[in-house]
Order: sequence, then C-alpha cells, then structure tokens
Amino acid sequence: MSRTLPNIIITGTPGTGKTTHATLLAERRPELKHLSINDIVKDKECHEGWDEEFQSWIVDEDKLLDAIEDQVKEGGWIIDWHACDLFPRSWVDLVVVLRVETEVLYDRLEKRNYPEAKLQENLDSEIMDVLIQEARDSYDEEIVVELKSGDADELEANVERIEGWLEQWKKDNNQN
Ligand code: ADP
Repeated sequence: MSRTLPNIIITGTPGTGKTTHATLLAERRPELKHLSINDIVKDKECHEGWDEEFQSWIVDEDKLLDAIEDQVKEGGWIIDWHACDLFPRSWVDLVVVLRVETEVLYDRLEKRNYPEAKLQENLDSEIMDVLIQEARDSYDEEIVVELKSGDADELEANVERIEGWLEQWKKDNNQN
C-alpha cells in the first residue's frame, strides 16, 4: 500500500449527517475529495433496478467496487455511504460512524418524505446499532470511531477531530 493520503469512510444510518460531514470536510481539506456512493450508483448504473417499496436502488456491489477501485486506491477519498462492509480493508484508513438520537433522526427522515417502511427500517437500524456493529465486525478496532451528530456543535467538533486525525496520519506516513 502506498497511498500518500488516507481514505476515510463516513458511514451511518441515512439522516445521521454523512453528506453534511463529508461536504464540510472536503471544503476545509481540498486534498480530500468527497465520493458520494449514491451518485456513483446512479451515474454509473451500479444497480440491479429500483426498489419501489424502499424507494432506493438495489446496489450491484461488484459493479460498484469495480467502478471506484482505481481512483480509491490512490487515496484521499471521503467515502459517503450507509454501509461499509463492502469496502476491502486494504482500501480503508479510518471509519467514522455517525450516530443520532432516535427522535432527532425521526424528524430528519420525516422531512425527506420517506415511505413508512423505509423510515421504520432506518430508525430500527439506528436503535439496533447496525452500522457501528458492521464497522466493528469489518475493520480493526483502532480505525473505527463513533461520533454523535445531533447538532451543529457536534458537526463542527467531529470535522475538527477528523482534520486532527488526518494531520497525524500524514505525519505517521511521512507527509507534511
Ligand atoms: P446522510 O447523508 O447521512 O443521509 P445528511 O448529511 O443528508 O445525512 O443530513 C440529513 C439532514 O440532517 C440534513 O438536513 C442536514 O442538514 C441535517 N444534519 C446532519 N447532520 C447534522 C448535525 N450534526 N446537526 C444538525 N443537523 C444536521
């Protein structure tokens, strides 16, 4: 592995703030680029069709990984997706799992007009710690961090923390 910049996954249940965090981090750190998996799935058609009930694409993971492999291996990506276990361990340097209280998440998802089944599935996923468990099962404990994303102060603190981690990673990997 010879990346000069790390790859960071920002994951969490839909509505926890992945895109908000990834966008702010990429604005503050132009050396990092935001990789919205949602956009790739749509634009490069890495899916097997549309799920009407859940109002989402049925992702073809092999096609998705093929589509992003070359660029991701170069490093410097903030990967924004509501799953993480599909990404090979060798691609990943940090996994940030965002968490939100159920009431706050409910309000955020309701504003998106999600169908009832999708809203309930996402609330259950957050309550049952699905994403943090998936991250811990898939990657080394030291690279998985769980951060609260309930308000603007937490967003700010989280981005600063990731920026601090980035600086340290560069030092550890002989970058300035
Ligand atoms: P995701 O990408 O995980 O689905 P988004 O980044 O789209 O989540 O955020 C969902 C909604 O919640 C947006 O309206 C966003 O402005 C809001 N939001 C996200 N994170 C925070 C936060 N830490 N504090 C307040 N609002 C937030």
